[in-house]
Amino acid sequence: MSKESRKFQVPDALANVYDFANTLDVRHFSHFGVEHPQSDEIAGMKQIADWMQERGLGAGGRITPAMLATALRLRGALRAYLQCDPAERRRNKEVLGALGDALAAFPLRVEARVGRGAALSAMREDALAGLSAIAIELHNATLVGTLDRLKMCASEECRRVFFDRSKPSTRRWCMSTLCGNRMKTRAYRERQREAK
Ligand SMILES: [Zn+2]
Repeated sequence: MSKESRKFQVPDALANVYDFANTLDVRHFSHFGVEHPQSDEIAGMKQIADWMQERGLGAGGRITPAMLATALRLRGALRAYLQCDPAERRRNKEVLGALGDALAAFPLRVEARVGRGAALSAMREDALAGLSAIAIELHNATLVGTLDRLKMCASEECRRVFFDRSKPSTRRWCMSTLCGNRMKTRAYRERQREAK
């Protein structure tokens, strides 16, 4: 859970997936004349260790370059998956294959624990073990059907991941007042230009 996930009412059970996918910020529109700065919260080993620590996912130990590469591969595959609309997610073999391969680095086991019953937990025991939370959340959210509501903004200048709380689950923009309007205005202008 983060300030951002709380602000946008992302269910706690998906908060780590939401935050992890959004560690890469590729928004490059300008808002009131100010260009949005692009950023990557987990660009280096120290950054990803801090990011995990902040979310209670830190397991101690040192993050190696190979671990960072494993994490970035998971993020890339996850973002590609979330960019597909829910129907496409079920049939796009390339996207599913890449996500499956990336998740294979985070094996899980079923553990019976006091107060929790039988729940999934990480098999990894190294510094990257905490990132297994992403695999667990993806699994649990698939079971309860909330994963389909986690989407990527259709604006190519944005590509922010958002949680669609609308009843019909048909939202395409992270914020219709910003991204939706920007895209509609552009489409309108293009139509005007073509009509001339
Ligand atoms: Zn957006």
